[in-house]
Amino acid sequence: MKNGKRILRCGALFLGSAAFLLLLLRAARPAEPAVPAFSPAGEEATLWVDGSAVTGVFRGGRHYADAEAFLAALDADFWRGEKEDLRRSLGGARTLCAEDFCEAQGIALYGEGGAELWCSSAAGDWEPPPGVRVPVLMYHGVGDDCWTSPTLFTSPDDLRAQLAWLLDNGFTPIFFEDLKHADAIEKPVLLTFDDSFRDNYTELFPILKEYGVKATLFVIQGTVGWDANLSAAQLREMLASGLVRAECHTQYHYFLDELSDEQLIEELCWSKAALTKLTGRIPCAIAYPAGREDARAVAICRREYRFGVKMGGPVYVTGEDPFFVHRIAVPRGISLGEFAARLLAAAG
Ligand SMILES: [Zn+2]
Repeated sequence: MKNGKRILRCGALFLGSAAFLLLLLRAARPAEPAVPAFSPAGEEATLWVDGSAVTGVFRGGRHYADAEAFLAALDADFWRGEKEDLRRSLGGARTLCAEDFCEAQGIALYGEGGAELWCSSAAGDWEPPPGVRVPVLMYHGVGDDCWTSPTLFTSPDDLRAQLAWLLDNGFTPIFFEDLKHADAIEKPVLLTFDDSFRDNYTELFPILKEYGVKATLFVIQGTVGWDANLSAAQLREMLASGLVRAECHTQYHYFLDELSDEQLIEELCWSKAALTKLTGRIPCAIAYPAGREDARAVAICRREYRFGVKMGGPVYVTGEDPFFVHRIAVPRGISLGEFAARLLAAAG
């Protein structure tokens, strides 16, 4: 009998332990997955929204994303106070279709029919407010190793002095997309560097960081990775700093007015597509090689870009034809006095 009781007691103990273990196991089980923020099923997609990757879904040839994630990735400087309007336009929907949303809001899209999609505000449908004088400075290389035409290379010390002068005199270096708010920016100035020489990484980039100044690189897309030119990794590192934008300087820098119609498409459109995939942003501006263009080239650029940039000429005033933006050359050896005089004359 005693043995029987002991067996019963052991049995109860065993059952109690088993129940406890079961409880433990239940507690250790992972929590139910949260309800996903967007409902469409399909292939996983990457949406590059103003340069940031947003994970979404690709289904039926269209791209869907979590609305808040998409809005958060849109460039805050470009949209400024308008993000609430964008949010309201969604009427409380938690999911957005990128194609529908971008078309409604004038955001440029680029895709190749696959799961990856690029959405860029700056390349979209917008105009700068008119009547603002914007000096656009033209540089090329930075350094004292003048391995090609010396006038193309600004000495690092001269560049430092020029940037310090601009900042001391109340100028605000901006990107092309900042022209959306040109009337709210104190003395806007655009610093542009053509031909994507490698010294733009080794010499220019440290100076931009030192002064916290924005600069635009006009990249010859086909030369990325060449010995004398920026590598893809260098370009991406510069872009990630937020101080640099890459805009288009064609594929191989041929003179546009000498090309066939087919070659024009390669130089103006293929380079745009390749630069978009390289940088995550659709370029919004193009610099015509050597400032040369013709009616055919400009017609294509009007379809593909927001701005077309020349070389010398009068200062750019917003509201004028954005496909004939003239620049002020800053040649090697220019004195600070002459630099200042050109800037002050341009800024009016
Ligand atoms: Zn060039």
